[in-house]
Amino acid sequence: MKLIRHAAAALAALTFICAALTSCGLGEPEQTYVPPVITSPPKETAETIPPITDTEDVTSSAATDTEKETGAVTTEKETEAETTARETETEKTENPLGFKADLSAYEKYMDPEDRDAYLILVNPSHPVGKDYKPDDLDPLVDTRPDRSKRYMRLYASKSLEAFLKEARENGCKNVTVTSAYRSYESQKEIFDGDVANLMKKGYSEEEAIAIERKDTAYPGESEHQTGLAVDMHNMSSAQQAFAKTFEAQWLAENCWKFGFILRYMPDKEDITTYVYEPWHFRYVGRYHAQRIYEMHMCLEEYTEYLENNG
Ligand SMILES: [Zn+2]
Repeated sequence: MKLIRHAAAALAALTFICAALTSCGLGEPEQTYVPPVITSPPKETAETIPPITDTEDVTSSAATDTEKETGAVTTEKETEAETTARETETEKTENPLGFKADLSAYEKYMDPEDRDAYLILVNPSHPVGKDYKPDDLDPLVDTRPDRSKRYMRLYASKSLEAFLKEARENGCKNVTVTSAYRSYESQKEIFDGDVANLMKKGYSEEEAIAIERKDTAYPGESEHQTGLAVDMHNMSSAQQAFAKTFEAQWLAENCWKFGFILRYMPDKEDITTYVYEPWHFRYVGRYHAQRIYEMHMCLEEYTEYLENNG
């Protein structure tokens, strides 16, 4: 019995030890501590990130490139600016009026050396007479297709060609010449024909002539006989409505550059004795045309101005 007690005590002691070992986690094989495997050593990180020195080099290099590029662009821009300035300067010298068309070949005609050669004043009190005919009439390049060949004096003819070239470059597409040089005979034909039509409407001959003289020059008194005047527009016939068109306004504002003046202006009817003719331009050469334009004078006023001011 004593032996059994000892054996039981030993068993109990053994069980206690086992229980104590189990509670410490040492009794179970799956609880065995396995040290963690470090899979990302600092070495790898160091290898992935580029060395600081390399990075600095790249940055430095990029900055240098950028500087180079910026420098190159700046230099290029400066060169461009210089070139533009030079071109502008050249243009001012060679093309001071900023023509879009190349009119260099026409320059000597638009701005004649003999600048007073084309100032002839023709009006009812300054007739040219029956026998006046210029000896340098030149066929116009640009006339309306349904009209026969027209002529003007050489310098006026070439300048008109330039005028129309530039007008087209500026959007005046359909402006064409309808009348230029007219002989005494052709002027008489036009005048007499219109007087006859008025008389058919009931006017006496005297009344008809008076009315007609407002619109059409009496034979021997027409500027068209000088070969320096031209009628041009983009309508079926010369009408006051032309004045409202872009073309008429462009022609009136720019005519002086080509040596022409708008001969019969709306606010000068009392002096010229003619109604406003937005289609009628007169060649005088650029020097005088510019002054006439700037002083807003008609040719009668300008002629008087020249007489009084030398
Ligand atoms: Zn006319």
